[in-house]
Amino acid sequence: MRDPRFDILFETVQIGPLVARNRFYQTPHCNGMGNLRPQAHAAMRGIKAEGGWAVINTEHCSVHPSGDLMPEVLQMLWDDGDIPPLALMVEAVHEHGSLAGVQLAYPAYYNANRLTREVPLGPMDRPVSGNHPMQVRGMDKSDIKNLLGWWKAAAVRARKAGFDVLNVDGNFSTIAFQFISPRNQRTDEYGGSLKNRVRLLRELIEVTREGGGDGCAVSVRLIIDELFGPEGLRAADEGIEAISLLAELPDLWDLVVGTWADDSPTSRFAAENDHEPFMVGIKSVTSKPVVGVGRFTSPDTMASLIRRGVLDMIGAARPSIADPFLPKKIEEGRYEDIRECIGCNICVSSHFAMTNLRCTQNPTMGEEWRRGWHPEKIALAKSRSSVLVVGAGPAGLECARALGERGYKVTLAEREGFLGGRVTLEGKLPGLGEWQRVRDWRVTQLQKLPNIEIYKGSDLSAADTLEFGSDQIVLATGARWRRDGVGRAAHKALPFDTALPIFTPDDVMRGSLPGGNVTVYDDDHYYMGAVIAEKLALEGCKVTLVTPAADISSFTVNTLENIRVAKRLFERGVTMITHRSLLGTGSSSARFMDVRTGENSEQRADAIVLVTARLPNSELYSQLVSGIAEKPSIRISRVGDCEAPAAIFAAVYSGHRFAQEFEDSSPLLRRERIDLKAAG
Ligand code: ADP
Ligand code: SF4
Repeated sequence: MRDPRFDILFETVQIGPLVARNRFYQTPHCNGMGNLRPQAHAAMRGIKAEGGWAVINTEHCSVHPSGDLMPEVLQMLWDDGDIPPLALMVEAVHEHGSLAGVQLAYPAYYNANRLTREVPLGPMDRPVSGNHPMQVRGMDKSDIKNLLGWWKAAAVRARKAGFDVLNVDGNFSTIAFQFISPRNQRTDEYGGSLKNRVRLLRELIEVTREGGGDGCAVSVRLIIDELFGPEGLRAADEGIEAISLLAELPDLWDLVVGTWADDSPTSRFAAENDHEPFMVGIKSVTSKPVVGVGRFTSPDTMASLIRRGVLDMIGAARPSIADPFLPKKIEEGRYEDIRECIGCNICVSSHFAMTNLRCTQNPTMGEEWRRGWHPEKIALAKSRSSVLVVGAGPAGLECARALGERGYKVTLAEREGFLGGRVTLEGKLPGLGEWQRVRDWRVTQLQKLPNIEIYKGSDLSAADTLEFGSDQIVLATGARWRRDGVGRAAHKALPFDTALPIFTPDDVMRGSLPGGNVTVYDDDHYYMGAVIAEKLALEGCKVTLVTPAADISSFTVNTLENIRVAKRLFERGVTMITHRSLLGTGSSSARFMDVRTGENSEQRADAIVLVTARLPNSELYSQLVSGIAEKPSIRISRVGDCEAPAAIFAAVYSGHRFAQEFEDSSPLLRRERIDLKAAG
């Protein structure tokens, strides 16, 4: 039963001529499927509608070939041929009673037009972002007129595709916002005063309405604060004023802050609802519904924002990825079933990888169509087989949970006195606390399943495991950090002087800490090196972080954290050195080679922490496989880090995949091919 204090979230909302069935609004988000994999895209959006989101938006949908973001996988409405893939999504969304929205966009300053080779257009002559060696041509009046025509034509097509809500995108990368920003230095009636700078957005709203016709609603996604200091648009002055100038023109305002990295910060750097200070006062300048985001997973926070008059609708991208059924679960009072986003931004990294969306918490994300996976439903067991899962990290927990959901009899054995494996340990490192949600959700679900038995403090040997008598053994025994220096830069063990203490992240996470002058060597390049450096700095060590890469935590460019990581380390007093690969250690120093010049150098140290690579804990697997001859009926498999160490999302996926495909002789893997007949 739902708590009445959350009833407010299930009130309807009038959006122009349309009614949203509740206050849950899936804001536009990239997904790596887009226009290239339209069936996968449609299935993913359809499941969100099934899960109760009242409005489901596409991602960025380009209105014209001169606004081309290729090779990023997004949407486009350049001609009528682009209508059918989007119509698929609309159908999937409508099937579950939700409204479908399209994010019409024109990416000024980001449009290198690598596919179409059109000359990029924008408010002013300026280099395109992303260091592409080309510039945008400043638009003249005829360009603006053309843009309005292209936009209207795209709106007409969007309507033909069946969309209900046509969104005018005024995000950081788009032309509407680039005109509004005080950084627009035009001297005609589209530059100068704020009234002039909002002119283009006003005209875009007007042509969108003309193109969409009476039945459609028109929404605007706009940056309320550019987070660019006095040179950028600021909420307190021109941000709110811009909205008041156009207050009643659109049917809904969807407001965001800064660039994508500010709009979607990771939990390492921002808590839930971090945008609220920017939203204060918006509702006093417009009577139209206001949507805001803030990685909302708490129904209390959501209801409070509505009740206090800050927002009218709860916008969400990541929470809807981690749990497409979030609204339904609140509606049914099943709060503990919400699979809360952990704020890791692995989902964002799949956009940059240009492949199907993936999520640490929700392993079915992006696999709805091609593998036929559903976040809330799974095929029933095919037999009465029993399964022993060894290891309760993310892979083991997810494997046991999903097998249990299917109805198999599962025993989960864990060596430690705690569940969660690496997420329990890593979750105690600075900024990673929310990652423990990976464990918490799974443990909560496991406790509801009568066919699961969990044994903590059970360190199973090969003999114990075989004697247990299960039909299937799944090893999820994880991995350990290497102590020999092997990683991406070094292929064989490095010469280490035993007089210099060597630590790994495992030592640090288990409370064995170095002291004094500590070198942290990061040849892993994701979060661990920087997080260990931060932890040791907080513990009072004088820390130098050294990496062979050109940048600190270089993978975190893909999770939008890179700049914040460096800033935080700087604030913590960590010295950062790039381009140096470790050669070995002496009794009180580490030796490095500059990867650019080949020059050697020495770094004085009291200890070194090696963050290089991990070794699978595969000993048990090897012993079992060699001893299986005695018990040929037992099947043995391994999942997660004990097969091949990777990031947490991969372990969850691996455990889930095993459970999905267990005793299924022909698991699905569909691909979307280009139809040459149709193309011809
Ligand atoms: P993954 O990310 O693949 O889930 P983790 O390292 O997080 O891997 O988790 C592996 C878990 O397996 C750890 O909690 C570890 O204590 C447990 N484990 C390892 N070997 C055994 C064993 N022989 N018996 C029981 N549990 C084990
Ligand atoms: Fe949230 Fe991480 Fe999933 Fe993205 S990948 S939705 S940030 S849990």
